[in-house]
Amino acid sequence: MDFLQPTSLPAALEAKAERPEALPIAGGTDVMVELNFDRGRPPAILDLTRVAELADWDRDGAGCRLGAGVTYTRAIEELAAALPGLALAARTVGSPQIRNRGTIGGNLGSASPAGDCHPPLLATGAEVELVSVAGTRRLPIQEFFTGPKQSALRPEELIAAVHLPVAGGPQQFAKIGTRNAMVIAVCSFGLALDPERRRVGTGIGSAGPTPLRAEDAERFLEGVLDEEGLWESRGPLGEAAAVRFGELVAAAARPIDDVRGTVAYRVHALGVLGRRTLAWAWDEYGNRRS
Ligand SMILES: Cc1cc2nc3c(=O)[nH]c(=O)nc-3n(C[C@H](O)[C@H](O)[C@H](O)COP(=O)(O)OP(=O)(O)OC[C@H]3O[C@@H](n4cnc5c(N)ncnc54)[C@H](O)[C@@H]3O)c2cc1C
Repeated sequence: MDFLQPTSLPAALEAKAERPEALPIAGGTDVMVELNFDRGRPPAILDLTRVAELADWDRDGAGCRLGAGVTYTRAIEELAAALPGLALAARTVGSPQIRNRGTIGGNLGSASPAGDCHPPLLATGAEVELVSVAGTRRLPIQEFFTGPKQSALRPEELIAAVHLPVAGGPQQFAKIGTRNAMVIAVCSFGLALDPERRRVGTGIGSAGPTPLRAEDAERFLEGVLDEEGLWESRGPLGEAAAVRFGELVAAAARPIDDVRGTVAYRVHALGVLGRRTLAWAWDEYGNRRS
């Protein structure tokens, strides 16, 4: 197996153009598991850990550009205020060792329906920046996921970054697992409220062939908040609306029965997570002014 170790992004892109079959490795927390279990033997590995251009994040106006190599630990320590939903999700990933090595770009690269970054990225309407020697393209996150562990990433491309807005309102994330730590989600849910754009964003994890949005739930809640003037008043949200929101979240799921949970359990649990995260987020929004 060849081991390619570029030290700049142009060199990494040249390497990927010459060897599209080379498997990128960032933190290696997914790649090394696959190699150790002998599930595949790529002809070449493309090590991205020395590519400084991928390792950082910066603010661009009201948005944030997160380099693909930003780790969970950095997202938690440096971005909890700007990107609270992503930071909450990052806190639930693996163990400190995994959070120190594992990257947001690697989570996207694996494109697992259970990846914990995906619900907050969907909820905030993130875009994935993909690069090759031919140039750069930006894809809405929803278009990035094409099937179970499948993405729109082309063989000659690398994930350069993910772009998402700095939070203008409360964001929440909740995950159900069979234990409290080091666990793949049985299901998960991310919620982002954006008062300025009067937008509700959602993301469902581990309950479909890809991460999903609950679009009917989003439209429903936006309607309630608009009609009742709640974006402005920050008054209490009725119980019936919260229950209906949970039902619409559950209805958007497309889970399967597997070793981690049944269809019935996941659908039920997502209804609870939808209602619960909405209560937390609305509570925070209501308390912000006072
Ligand atoms: C013990 C353990 C616990 C875990 N717990 C969780 C968890 O709780 N939640 C969760 O979501 N995940 C979990 N994972 C999975 C893993 O840690 C995450 O998916 C992590 O984000 C992968 O990042 P990485 O940098 O290690 O990726 P790598 O393993 O280096 O790469 C993963 C995939 O992405 C590709 N890739 C990486 N970077 C790029 C790039 N810049 N451009 C193109 N392709 C790229 C690789 O080729 C590979 O296909 C766990 C893994 C382990 C071993």
